[in-house]
Amino acid sequence: MNLDTPLVYVKGVGPFRAEMLEAKGLVTVNDLLHYPPFRYEDRTNLKPIEKLAPGEMATVIVEVQATRLPKAGRKNLGMFEATFGDGSRYKLLGKWFHGAYLANVLVEGTRVALYGKVEFDTYTGELLMMHPEFEPLSAGDEEGDHSLHTGRVVPIYEAAGKVSAKLLRVITRRILDSVTPPDDFLPSQLREQMKLPSRWDAMRTIHSPPEDSDLRLLNAFRSPAHLRMIFEEFFWLECGLALKRRKAKTVEGVQFQLTERVREKIKAMLPFKPTGAQKRVLGEIAHDMAEPHPMNRLVQGDVGSGKTLVAAEAAIIAIENGYQVAVLAPTEILASQHFAYFKALFQKLGYAVVMLSGSYRPKEKAKLRQLIEQGLAHVAVGTHAILEDDVKFKKLGLAIVDEQHRFGVMQRLKLMEKGAKKPDVLVMTATPIPRTLALTIYGDLDTSVIDELPPGRRPVVTKHVFDSRIEEVWSFVGREVQAGRQAYVVYPVIEESDTTALKAAEKMYLHLRDTVFPDFTIGLLHGKLPQSEKEGVMADFKTGRIRILVSTTVVEVGVDVPNATVMVIEQAERFGLAQLHQLRGRVGRGGNQSYCLLVTEKLGETARDRIRTLTESNDGFHIAEMDLRLRGPGEFFGTKQSGLPTLRFANIVRDSELLEVARTEANAFISHPPSEEALRRAIQYIRDHWQRRYGLVQVG
Ligand code: ADP
Ligand code: MG
Repeated sequence: MNLDTPLVYVKGVGPFRAEMLEAKGLVTVNDLLHYPPFRYEDRTNLKPIEKLAPGEMATVIVEVQATRLPKAGRKNLGMFEATFGDGSRYKLLGKWFHGAYLANVLVEGTRVALYGKVEFDTYTGELLMMHPEFEPLSAGDEEGDHSLHTGRVVPIYEAAGKVSAKLLRVITRRILDSVTPPDDFLPSQLREQMKLPSRWDAMRTIHSPPEDSDLRLLNAFRSPAHLRMIFEEFFWLECGLALKRRKAKTVEGVQFQLTERVREKIKAMLPFKPTGAQKRVLGEIAHDMAEPHPMNRLVQGDVGSGKTLVAAEAAIIAIENGYQVAVLAPTEILASQHFAYFKALFQKLGYAVVMLSGSYRPKEKAKLRQLIEQGLAHVAVGTHAILEDDVKFKKLGLAIVDEQHRFGVMQRLKLMEKGAKKPDVLVMTATPIPRTLALTIYGDLDTSVIDELPPGRRPVVTKHVFDSRIEEVWSFVGREVQAGRQAYVVYPVIEESDTTALKAAEKMYLHLRDTVFPDFTIGLLHGKLPQSEKEGVMADFKTGRIRILVSTTVVEVGVDVPNATVMVIEQAERFGLAQLHQLRGRVGRGGNQSYCLLVTEKLGETARDRIRTLTESNDGFHIAEMDLRLRGPGEFFGTKQSGLPTLRFANIVRDSELLEVARTEANAFISHPPSEEALRRAIQYIRDHWQRRYGLVQVG
């Protein structure tokens, strides 16, 4: 048996179980070795029932003596009860809500290990465990030696379909006993320097911890064995990213000239003095653009930090060098915003800015495509549809891309510029990204951070209001509007296809228009409106004709109306942190004090944490970190976001410090490998073992 042996050939697996394992991404022996237990249980010190004390967590080995499934009724919630004994005269009770299914598992006479919190049942005076974890011990041969499951520190795996934690333990043990120990590819110098155990030792410890293991370290994923595997995972990921960055530096790109003329044009365009951070970031971008290979740079900055202005400066560099610029936005609304913004900025310079919208008539589109193809349009704004085959740029030099579309767009750009020089790419994020994510998902890009807001910004005052006091919110909105300002009222329609939610938003709009604010002009904006209507509503809000804009989250990104000072978010508990911060960023863009009112019902605990984070902080980077911690890496971008590498041992939130170390070591290793041979071996290893897992990392 070796690492590549399919699990289906391991004794005790078979086709049926192999399928369930595969559903978890476990196909080969190696995959299973990379499937660590999520918890360890100390079953060395088993206690007899007699010695149990209420309040403690404990494991007991007992036998089912009697079970009871009271008749299903509303009150007892399908409670299943079992009485356990261990040969003494003492008894232990186990109770499970909705436990009817257990009747077939915990049959009389079954020996089980129970693990749970010991309680005192006030009704019967007996000891009790509510919902204990349990593992039947008396099953047949294939479940292996009992000594695997008791009397030691036992690894607990997350079951894979019908493949139980216990069976996984058995299969993994079989693998450990018969697989040829794999080579250790981690550079030995690094291993010694960091005092890491060998790969094989680490794997064995993780799946089968020795007697004297420190249970606390194991459960915290902090045993030397865990540290080794976590470090390794980050190390190869970061090596892959470093190789990718290095390879990009060998591709031929446009070498833009930074002439005096370029500087003059930028100066002529700037409507205000750039902040220090904007200047610094432009410097970083300009440096990249002057290099003979394509730029791949990510610009991060908090809402309102002025990322778009910096992008416009970069566009001038490209245009003055005789190239075209593509600006790609995630939605049509944002595309029209960018279109208006760039058109206004570039009017003085005489650049032609066009927008290609999916909703234009074919004739119109054909005309615009022609302008782009002939090089008459300097800037083309649109959704990523502008990179489709039928749109041909005469001389594309720079693509300014919204982060949300980065993956698709990068591929497109690769395809479209066949033979020609690759354009520079500037990726902009709407929200700050926690550093750990920036180092993983965005690790193939160079990063710039605009960490300063334009002067004169007053932080938005954020308040939490329960919906029972909504009338006060409306009177506040009324006062602000009376004073000449404007307001947003955002309604949670998460999926624009959700018609019930849309109806609710419409109802809200009618209520505000007809009952609450009959004297003000109110607009409604949502994703389902025809494009022309959306644009009309946005234009009316911009000019101030519409005083209050009721909207779904389509206003989330980029919308810029400095006179708007109030952001009311209805059912704020239903939004994620980053989204709330982004919505809040729509106000506070002018000189006036602005307010964000988060309206909610009664709150659960995590919702309360989210709301509190917002009322206490205006710092997008801090909020992003909190969001990552509260929701976990997988959820951070929502389900649609791809590109997060599959990490088996490592967790970028828990292990952020190791990630930093691994990154430093990986960069050092790639730029100064101990030998060419060592580097070649590493590249080969990444190709063979890690490329599939990290998806993103194509090292060539
Ligand atoms: P972001 O895209 O980072 O959210 P924007 O580029 O939309 O931010 O800028 C937010 C607002 O601040 C815009 O109204 C913009 O015109 C303005 N702005 C940008 N840079 C400056 C600056 N240096 N000084 C004053 N206002 C600025
Ligand atoms: Mg370049």
